[in-house]
Amino acid sequence: MDRDKVRSYQNFNVSLYCPVFSIKDIDDFNAFDEEFQHIEKHVKIGRVYLENYRGEEWTPEEQLLKVKDYFEKKGIATAGGITPVAKGDPSRDGFVSLCYSKPGGEEQLVKAVEMNARIFDEFIFDDFFFLNCRCEACVKKRGNRTWKDFRLAEKKRLITDCVMGPAKKINPNVNVILKYPQWFEVFNELGYDLKMEPAMFDTIYTGTETRDPQYSHQHLPKYLSYFTMRLYEAAAPGRNLGGWFDPYECTYNLNSYLEQGYLTLFGKAKEVMLFCMGSLLKSATPFRLFAPAAGEMFAEADEYMGELGDPVGIPAYMPHDARGEDNIHSYLGMIGFPTEPYQEYPEDAKTVFLAQGALADPDLPEKMEKTLLAGGDVIVTSNFVRKMGFDKFRRFAYVDVTDRKALVQEYGAPSTHDIYVGRKPALITQIDTGVNDITVLSCAFGEDNNFPIVCRTNYGDGRLTIITIPDDFGALYLYPREVLYSIRQQGEKSVPYTLDAPSRVQLFVYDNDKVIIRSDYENITTVGLTVPEGKTEAVDLVSGRSFPVKDGRVTFRAMQGINYVLDVR
Ligand SMILES: [Zn+2]
Repeated sequence: MDRDKVRSYQNFNVSLYCPVFSIKDIDDFNAFDEEFQHIEKHVKIGRVYLENYRGEEWTPEEQLLKVKDYFEKKGIATAGGITPVAKGDPSRDGFVSLCYSKPGGEEQLVKAVEMNARIFDEFIFDDFFFLNCRCEACVKKRGNRTWKDFRLAEKKRLITDCVMGPAKKINPNVNVILKYPQWFEVFNELGYDLKMEPAMFDTIYTGTETRDPQYSHQHLPKYLSYFTMRLYEAAAPGRNLGGWFDPYECTYNLNSYLEQGYLTLFGKAKEVMLFCMGSLLKSATPFRLFAPAAGEMFAEADEYMGELGDPVGIPAYMPHDARGEDNIHSYLGMIGFPTEPYQEYPEDAKTVFLAQGALADPDLPEKMEKTLLAGGDVIVTSNFVRKMGFDKFRRFAYVDVTDRKALVQEYGAPSTHDIYVGRKPALITQIDTGVNDITVLSCAFGEDNNFPIVCRTNYGDGRLTIITIPDDFGALYLYPREVLYSIRQQGEKSVPYTLDAPSRVQLFVYDNDKVIIRSDYENITTVGLTVPEGKTEAVDLVSGRSFPVKDGRVTFRAMQGINYVLDVR
């Protein structure tokens, strides 16, 4: 079956994940239907994923068939699901993967795979297909290897022997989908890999959960819901089937729940998966408002999603095994610095953005030099320079990212002109540069002293820019808008639109002169957008309002949590 034919909205499909615990005990389907109508009357569900295994709990095969039948009678497509997690209490032990070093683990995995392949033409792995067991058997089996090497080797074996082998034997055309979590920064340590797995699985799926960026363990800036869509698309072009988010840790702000959905769609998801059915039913007390709100969000987005071209961002090189500066691209996204990830070095790009993780590529210095000599710009973070090392970076310029810090609140931009005050002090690293060898474009003021925030030098026909990243990446949000503007401008060769706004205003650009501005700033704020020459107005496709272009920019007042979907003419 062509899965793209299932489309519950004009421009995308919406699906629902149904874990074991919400389907295994349904016996009165009429009573269940009343519960389900709460979702159905608000959200057009095109497909459900019915799970047969999670934490040593099973949906028996005959029950799975009954549930499948219930949904198919409603005209909803069905697929399978597996969550290979061990039994346990996550609040006490955290999440523990199945152990494949002791008897039982592999057998359960194979059993779950085979049942899915028998019943469905496609099934998905929930993002618990990681390996984090450190039991004695696993420690022994690991031997002298690092956990990373051990787990990647184990994963390869498991995918071949326990997943793809058995699945294809039963159902040669079955589509086996790997859903990746959104914590790509540590994938290899837990047996995930953005190169190995897309080559082994038929298709992949993207975790776009951001939840509460402050009061949850993962630090997930909201922009990440867009960024992981793009990152995983780069890992499996055309085979990234959709994005998946949930309502957890979102009750503080219903709009934050919806933001995950909007950004998943802005990242061009073909399907959006709601996790999970049990949390969205009528009786799901804390989340009862979420399904109606999600329904309106999908209806609204469907009105303009068809208008958006392909996403455009500053090309960011992220090798499959990149590590370091966790989520820096999403923090930068939150200050209106949009990036588009590339798993292979973007040789022909006019701009290349490099964070610390890019240094996983040992040949990077030669590649950077080639870009610069060809007239391209290279933008690096201060942490990138530190990691590369002073001696190596000297090949390009005398830039020493020192161990000295400065607590700063006043800034100069451009250069040392004017004084702009940040809302709170930010702790930054002091960068030593060669006077007259490097141009400082914006700086922070100390006492009888100042430190670069953005500095740049020419190299060949290109330009090399260094951005000072505070130790607390979130403190990027404390830079005043004038300093942020000096950062955003560095992407001008690749992104023809530059934002002039305080932090926490996000910018999404498409290749057909559509631009989305979305503010997470806590108040109404004035937003400026510089536009390419020849443009005369920007029409908001949501409200119908028109903003004239004046002196090369449009200006308007932006409210928090509202999407301004601009058609720039
Ligand atoms: Zn183990």
